[in-house]
Amino acid sequence: DGLKTLKVDDTPLPKSKNLDVLSEYEKSKAKKSASFVVVGHVDAGKSTLMGRLLLDLDVVDQRTIDKYRKEAEAMGKSSFALAWVLDQRTEERSRGVTIDIATNKFETDNTSFTILDAPGHRDFIPNMIAGASQADFAILVVDASTGSFEAGLRGQTREHALLLRSMGVSRVIVAVNKLDTVGWSKDRFDEISQQVSGFLQGSGFQMKNVSFVPVSGLHGDNMVRRSPDPAADWYKGDTLIDELENSEPMARALDKPLRMTISEVFRTTQSPVTISGRLDAGSVQAGDAILIQPSGEKAYIKSLELDGEPVDWTVAGQNVVIHLTHVDPIHVRVGDIVCDTRQPIACVDSFTIKVLAFDILMPMQIDVHRGRLHAAGQISEISALLDKTKGTVLKKKPKIVKPASVARVVVKLGSKVPLETGQRVVLRSNGNTVAAGLLD
Ligand code: GDP
Repeated sequence: DGLKTLKVDDTPLPKSKNLDVLSEYEKSKAKKSASFVVVGHVDAGKSTLMGRLLLDLDVVDQRTIDKYRKEAEAMGKSSFALAWVLDQRTEERSRGVTIDIATNKFETDNTSFTILDAPGHRDFIPNMIAGASQADFAILVVDASTGSFEAGLRGQTREHALLLRSMGVSRVIVAVNKLDTVGWSKDRFDEISQQVSGFLQGSGFQMKNVSFVPVSGLHGDNMVRRSPDPAADWYKGDTLIDELENSEPMARALDKPLRMTISEVFRTTQSPVTISGRLDAGSVQAGDAILIQPSGEKAYIKSLELDGEPVDWTVAGQNVVIHLTHVDPIHVRVGDIVCDTRQPIACVDSFTIKVLAFDILMPMQIDVHRGRLHAAGQISEISALLDKTKGTVLKKKPKIVKPASVARVVVKLGSKVPLETGQRVVLRSNGNTVAAGLLD
C-alpha cells in the first residue's frame, strides 16, 4: 500500500482535525437541505417551470433571461428562453432537450434546495433514475392544455410515477401546468388532479404526501407569487414554493458508514482528482482516508467544498466537492462508490432482489441501474412470486412474472459491482424499465 501510493503522490498525507462531525453538525444548526427531482412528460414544461422559479427567486436575473431570449429568437424558439436557465450548453439548446441532471441550487429562509433536473425524453430515463435515487421529493409536471395531459398520461407520466416510487420517493408535488392555456379552468384542474391521484395511488403513493398546485410556469403564476389573473381566484391553496418549503427531507443516515456515489470526476487547481456527489450516508472530514469501490483503492481527502466554500466536514444529504490526494485517477470513475475504509461496501456479481414487475419477467438479459451506476447482467432465476402486500410466497419458481406482480429474482452480473442490502435498483431491457426493487 505504502509503495503504491508513493508512485502516485509523495506529498505528506493530509492531516485530520479529528472533529466529532456529528456534534459539529448539531452545533452548526445548518440550514435544512433538500434535493428534488423534476419529472414529467417531454414538453410538459419542466425546464420552463424551473427557469421561472430561479428567475422569481432572483437566482438568475432578468438580463440573463433577456440574453437567452435573444439567442432563442435567433434560433426561432423564443419560448425556450426560460428553459435554458437550467440548460446552458449550446449543444443541448440546439436540440431543445435537457440531457444531464443539471444541478441547480437555491435557498429560501429555511431550506437550501438542490434541483436535480430530470428530462422527459424516453432515452433519458437512466438519468431520471440517477436523479430520483438522490431526491427527497419530486415535482411531477403535467401539461393541462387540451389533449396534452391525456397523451402524457398514457405515455411517460405513469412510468415516471412508478419509477419515483420504486426509487423510494414518497412525497410528490404535482404542478398542474399551462393552466393559462385553458383560461384557469377549475374543472380542468380538478379533472386532472383526480386522474393523477388515481394513478399515483395505483403506484403506491399515499395521498397525504401528494399535493396539487395549478400553475403557469411560463408566466410564473402560483409559483412564487399568486396568480394575478382574476380567473385563477378560485385557488386558495399554497404556491409551489410554499409546498416545497413544507416538504420534509428524508431522514439522513448520519450515523451509518460513509457512502457516496461519484457523479462527476474532474481536475482542478487543487487536485488532479476532484470528485463531486451527494453523501448518501455517514459523514467525512478533511484528512480522512476513504476507499473507492469497485477498484478497492484508498485515497485521502485533501479538502472539501460545500456550495463553493471550503468546509472541514460534510454529512449525509449534502452535495459536496472533494479534492483527493494519493490516488491514481484511473481508479476513480463516475458511478463508483466512496466508502468507509473500515466498513466498505462489498462488490458482488450476483444478488437477489424483491422487485415490482413493470413488464413480463423471465430469465432474460437486463441492465442494472443504481444511481449513476449501470451494469449488464441477466435475471438467472425467478425464486418466487410474492403477495404484493404481505410479501409471503404465492408460488415457488414460476416460469414468468406478469406486469404489476411482485417477485423475488436472482440477478447475475457480468462484472463485480458495489451493491448492498437495502439499495434500490432498476432493471431495464432494450431501453424499457422492466422492474424495480430493493436488494435483499
Ligand atoms: P420540458 O420538455 O418538460 O422541459 O418542457 P419545456 O420547459 O421545454 O416547455 C415545452 C413548451 O411548453 C415550451 O414551448 C414552453 O414555452 C411551453 N410552456 C411551458 N410552460 C408553459 C405554461 O405554463 N404556459 C404555456 N402557455 N406554455 C408553457
